Amino acid sequence: MTKAHCLFSVMPALERHLEMANAYEGDFRRRVESIGPTRFLPGTSIEIVREVRLAQPPRFVLLDFDGTLSLVREGWQSIMIPMMVELLQETRSGETTEALTRTVQDFVYELTGKQTVYQMIRLAEEIGKRGGRARDPLEYKKMYHDRLMARIHDRREALRNGTADPESMLVPGTLSMLRELQTRGVRMFLASGTDERYVLEEARLLTLDPFFGRHMYGALDDHTSFSKQMVIDRILRENSVPGASLLGFGDGFVEIDNVKSSGGIAVGVATDETQRSGRPDEWKRDRLIGVGADVIVPDFRESSRLIGYIWEGA
Ligand SMILES: [Mg+2]
Repeated sequence: MTKAHCLFSVMPALERHLEMANAYEGDFRRRVESIGPTRFLPGTSIEIVREVRLAQPPRFVLLDFDGTLSLVREGWQSIMIPMMVELLQETRSGETTEALTRTVQDFVYELTGKQTVYQMIRLAEEIGKRGGRARDPLEYKKMYHDRLMARIHDRREALRNGTADPESMLVPGTLSMLRELQTRGVRMFLASGTDERYVLEEARLLTLDPFFGRHMYGALDDHTSFSKQMVIDRILRENSVPGASLLGFGDGFVEIDNVKSSGGIAVGVATDETQRSGRPDEWKRDRLIGVGADVIVPDFRESSRLIGYIWEGA
């Protein structure tokens, strides 16, 4: 039985949705096998993978949320992975905890950047493969989310009651970069694979909402009705502009892939979410370059230099 059959025999209703959704949000596929030598803007950690030479400066900027700007959900992997291992153990497949952990880690990381439900669809598939009765992936997503919220409750509360400074839960340099982009007159759009209601709430808690106004988008229960590609398509269509007027920032492959295939410029943000060390996360860097990122930054501490380079080539 193929993987697809296995999943669809468990959840036939998902078949059509998956086909539609995959047209917008496919799995990670390396499009760039090798790159020439890269260079750093002198005295910075800004790595130029491909020189950016724009005829016109960008007019629209698309930013991912979690991992790119927000660190509120930092550490989500340590909630998701053990939960999935627990659920797979219920199938009594005889695999060791270590083996199951490796399997789960592989697919969780592989799918990182897509909407959360895709990781849960894969979990359901793995449960089915082991003879277990999988539940609706949305149920797994809710279970995961409840556990994650228990973990990040204190962070959100601290932002809400003012005991934590928003900067402490933002990728370093975020606010000053958004201010500078604002003075450049671009329109900014936030697009996240996290559920929209939480994106709106957390963006507000982090004081990011004034930069985006109503242009903040996130996942909906029907995962086929939102994708980052849909947001990009709408920007380009409604403003009748070519893809080259778009600049994208993200730490996940989906947004970088979408921006590049739309003809835009993509900055891969290889954030070290746990340490905020200012050094790029090598795993992210490699994946982002693999889908065509033009520039890699570890965070936004040097965003003035980055913006100067993209706008003025300096
Ligand atoms: Mg992200």
